[in-house]
Amino acid sequence: MIVEALAIGGLGLAAAVGLGVAAKIFAVEVDPLVTAVEEALPGANCGGCGMAGCSAAAAAMAAGRIPPSACVGGGAAVQAEVAKILGLALSASEPVVAHVNCRYATASADVKYQYDGIRDCRAAVLLFGGPKECPVGCLGLGTCVVNCPFGAIQIGANGLPQVDAALCTGCGTCERVCPMGAAGLTSVSNRILREFTPNQCTAPCQRSCPAGIDVARYIDLTAKGRYDDALAVVKERNPLPLICGRICPRPCEAACRRAKVDEPVAIDNIKRFLADHEMQSGKRVQPYKAPAKNRKVAVIGGGAEGLTAAYFLARLGYAPTVFEAGEKLGGMLRTALPAERLPREVLDWEIEGILEMGVEARLNQTFGRDCNLPELFKEGFEAVIMASGGWDAMLSGGKAPRTMPGLHLMLPLKMAWAKGQDIDLGRNVVIVGGGAEALNVARQARQRGAGRALALLRQTREALGLDAQGLLALANEGVDCVFEASVTGLFGGGDRAERLEYVIAGDDDQPQAVEGVSSIIIASGRLPKLIFVRQEADPYANDEALHWRSLRPYGPPERPVVDLFDDLPTVADHRAVVEAIGSGRRAAASAHMALSGRPVAAPAQMLCSADCALDVEALDDLLAAPQRQPMPELAPERRVYAGLEIELGLDERAAKTEASRCLNCGLICYKREGKLPAAA
Ligand code: SF4
Ligand code: SF4
Repeated sequence: MIVEALAIGGLGLAAAVGLGVAAKIFAVEVDPLVTAVEEALPGANCGGCGMAGCSAAAAAMAAGRIPPSACVGGGAAVQAEVAKILGLALSASEPVVAHVNCRYATASADVKYQYDGIRDCRAAVLLFGGPKECPVGCLGLGTCVVNCPFGAIQIGANGLPQVDAALCTGCGTCERVCPMGAAGLTSVSNRILREFTPNQCTAPCQRSCPAGIDVARYIDLTAKGRYDDALAVVKERNPLPLICGRICPRPCEAACRRAKVDEPVAIDNIKRFLADHEMQSGKRVQPYKAPAKNRKVAVIGGGAEGLTAAYFLARLGYAPTVFEAGEKLGGMLRTALPAERLPREVLDWEIEGILEMGVEARLNQTFGRDCNLPELFKEGFEAVIMASGGWDAMLSGGKAPRTMPGLHLMLPLKMAWAKGQDIDLGRNVVIVGGGAEALNVARQARQRGAGRALALLRQTREALGLDAQGLLALANEGVDCVFEASVTGLFGGGDRAERLEYVIAGDDDQPQAVEGVSSIIIASGRLPKLIFVRQEADPYANDEALHWRSLRPYGPPERPVVDLFDDLPTVADHRAVVEAIGSGRRAAASAHMALSGRPVAAPAQMLCSADCALDVEALDDLLAAPQRQPMPELAPERRVYAGLEIELGLDERAAKTEASRCLNCGLICYKREGKLPAAA
């Protein structure tokens, strides 16, 4: 008995010693910093930081792989605590919250069948893509609700998920679990940068608006008398509602669904009412700005496009400065439009609002004369957006301004030559563009001393009518030709262009380079829209010049841009201010992409045109609606007094009546008898 007890005791002792030794040998060192960070994290394991739970996040933060602000689930207090533990400064970040992009619950929408299975959207979608006819609509079964780790979503009285912004941490769980893509995260920057895709719930008017304004939303808020909120929705995408409300060509109204049975909703007149209401109240509705990035961007041109680019840059957190050649901002809006259509006090109020967003303006600054690229880069600007509207050639009066480093426009160059001016083009000239005139200019450049003239032509040789003999004659004159060429890159140092890259159609987009370019002549009367950004200098090169490269802002998909100098129809402010607004926003978005180290490109699946999304053929069960409200006009006998505005604007009653005509459209849903959306 004693022997057995001693044996068991001995075995126990040996096992204890063995375990003690093993514990020493196999001990895992735990970094106390990781432990401290993990204790500070919320422990929700929501994955919003992109890591597999809070332990992995703590290790990544302690190792410096992700910043303390990555813990979106913990919010500002947790981020500050983690930053304190790690001895880091916490930079301000923009709030990101969930949003459900669907207007009509299943009970208010057309359905394929009645779903009576388990209450999980992911289960319902397995049966023919879910009960709704709409392929992107919220199914309302609450998968986002049960999965939200912070209790921030509930199904509202209208059958759609409602997000409590105070509770939402922006962790993105709802976005990950929603099988329809209806739930997603949104922020101000997100909404500025957003391009529509066919897989989103958009109304026909919104898709047709070059600025992409959420028309249905602002009209709905107008009908409810929430004018400031409605104007804030407009200003999400359009900084010039007073101007647009007066001179927009209204592509939205041409696409309005109501026009299938009736007259379109007077969308633009409602917008004007909201903007006039703001101006008359004297209290500005200023939209949210992202936290300051302390990064400067220059915008060349103070017309509609330049002002819009500056406005969106300010909202994205940049410090933009507009350089305007004239004495006042406004471009063609000020110089070409009569006061009867756009009173100057209206224009001035709108421009003041943009400046109040944090946009600096420098007047009487002609680019290329009073300021230039190297000076702007030296002053700390990280990008320079050209938004001159393309009128420079017409306004130059043949003085051949070198507005961009190394670049000449063909028209003013020829005018200067005709006046006998001697323009030094240097030894290595490239002519970009097309047509026989480009070849003539190439010949003239050679005759005026260029050692080499290379013509990069967009057309084929056949389209230009050049046979082998013609080509030989050009070669004998020192002009080389490349056909079907598109310029894809321009690089320079200081006030000189240095290298140009181009691709030839069908050549697998393999860029070819022309080094040592002295001048580039663009066979166009208008300056290209380019963005110049600084390049890091080669640390081994003995070169003090600031180096740069140029980019083309991405365009709408129906006008894809390959060539930097492609002669797209330039927007004239008085003709299509809303086109200029869309273009200015894309320029700001493109500069933001470049400065964030991302390629400048249109987002994947960008809607190619308003018709590329689903729509409805015919409307049925419409509610009775009032007639379209006419725009009141100045009495004919009073129009002789110059400067009096002819269109007077809707009054409040008419604006609300007009707003009640809107069908509050979604992708295929709209307001109708028996399918009305319940109140939120
Ligand atoms: S609503 Fe979405 S993003 Fe917000 S906390 Fe809940 S799951 Fe996260
Ligand atoms: S009815 Fe309203 S939401 Fe529908 S297209 Fe017309 S303005 Fe837009």
